[in-house]
Amino acid sequence: METVICAKQLRKEYYVGKQVCVAVKNISMEIKKGQMVAIIGPSGCGKTTLINMLGGLISATSGEIFIQGKRWSKYSEKEKASIRNSYVSYIVQSFALIDEESVIYNLEVPLLLGKKPIRKKERSVLIDSALKQVGLLEKGKEKVKNLSGGQQQRVAIARILVQNAQIIFGDEPTGALDKKMGDEVFLLLKELVRKYGKTLILVTHNEELAKQCDIIYRMEDGEIVEKIDRNND
Ligand code: ADP
Ligand code: MG
Repeated sequence: METVICAKQLRKEYYVGKQVCVAVKNISMEIKKGQMVAIIGPSGCGKTTLINMLGGLISATSGEIFIQGKRWSKYSEKEKASIRNSYVSYIVQSFALIDEESVIYNLEVPLLLGKKPIRKKERSVLIDSALKQVGLLEKGKEKVKNLSGGQQQRVAIARILVQNAQIIFGDEPTGALDKKMGDEVFLLLKELVRKYGKTLILVTHNEELAKQCDIIYRMEDGEIVEKIDRNND
């Protein structure tokens, strides 16, 4: 299987005044296409910092990240922007949607930011198809703020679909949802991985969801203390 992200001895230090906080220490991992990877661990152990480095949102203090086989630091700024816009996608607890705008508007944003201009008609086809897949076709014109939490998270998943991102980072995407909605959202994400060969890297507090992933990394105090590879044991 193709490696999509590889991390070598990642370390991240944050400076708050003169105080240094080592959020991630010496983490190495290899993530392959089509895998579902869970990252679990107590609050403050460095999960968000780790996935933000893996997705190129923040830089590491030391260590290396390879995305699509190439060292992240060797990509030009333009290439980095393009990867952030179309290769990776983030889905977070707070949905990161524009509340005051319609569902369709929210889904158009990544299409308008893309490299090639996409015509209105084509955008509309992509958006409708994504909404259909998440079961929200009739909600396109609704303002995001009028939707339930579960529906908002499904809009976030539709955004991944229109972006056609290959790697999906979920930072506790079900954390703000009740069990039923959370399970639904997870099922949709799982479908994306299994049906379209996408890769999911999921930070979660929910052990039940983590157990459905292929690999589980348990973090403590900035380090990986346990790796469970469910396909190899
Ligand atoms: P988690 O997602 O597991 O809760 P984080 O990656 O958010 O953990 O945080 C790891 C550690 O780094 C914590 O001690 C946190 O306070 C610290 N931290 C995170 N982001 C910053 C930041 N921007 N500036 C300073 N410290 C930070
Ligand atoms: Mg976090």
